[in-house]
Amino acid sequence: MFSGSSPGRRSSYENAAKELGNELLKHNIELVYGGGNVGLMGVIADTVIASGGKVVGVIPEFLQKQEVSHVALTELHIVQSMHERKAMMSELSDAFIAMPGGIGTFEELLEVMTWQQLGVQAKPCALLNTDNYFDHLIALLEHAVAEEFLKSRHKKMLLVEKNSEHLVKLLFDYKYQHTDKWIQQGPGGNQA
Ligand code: AMP
Repeated sequence: MFSGSSPGRRSSYENAAKELGNELLKHNIELVYGGGNVGLMGVIADTVIASGGKVVGVIPEFLQKQEVSHVALTELHIVQSMHERKAMMSELSDAFIAMPGGIGTFEELLEVMTWQQLGVQAKPCALLNTDNYFDHLIALLEHAVAEEFLKSRHKKMLLVEKNSEHLVKLLFDYKYQHTDKWIQQGPGGNQA
């Protein structure tokens, strides 16, 4: 799970984090996240912990020193860098969901999408598009397809849903199909 270290301006973001946490609990899905007790990341962790679910945090030492790591996690891995954190989160996870967040959230999502596009990992990547928060990011990806910097089939790999229940179902149904990023270069290389 990638999500904001801030709670955001609307209460709908917090509600969505709680809903998604409850959806994970319903399916007995373990939560892997950044280990903080702040913002939306703290809300989803609290929700899962409060109902006895498993929550694994992966936090760099420098963030833990700011005393913002969550104290009640099932497991907390302390790593040395942000790179190490992302690598470990990716290894421990079977799927990736981005909830609303800022630059940290965008960066984490785009990195796993990059790995997916290159075939480095085959796990599903999804957006929880609460209150259309990610519409501008989706529009940017569409622009990248129109300008032939991104293949339509790679953009389509990103699952987008507003409803947590539907989102989790999409993740369960997902089948990875690797299509080489490098075939069909040049104009016309963007067909799905
Ligand atoms: P943002 O979407 O910009 O709020 O960034 C989310 C990211 O914030 C996380 O993935 C972390 O890199 C970082 N972060 C900030 N504060 C914390 C914290 N207390 N615990 C864990 N990660 C944090």
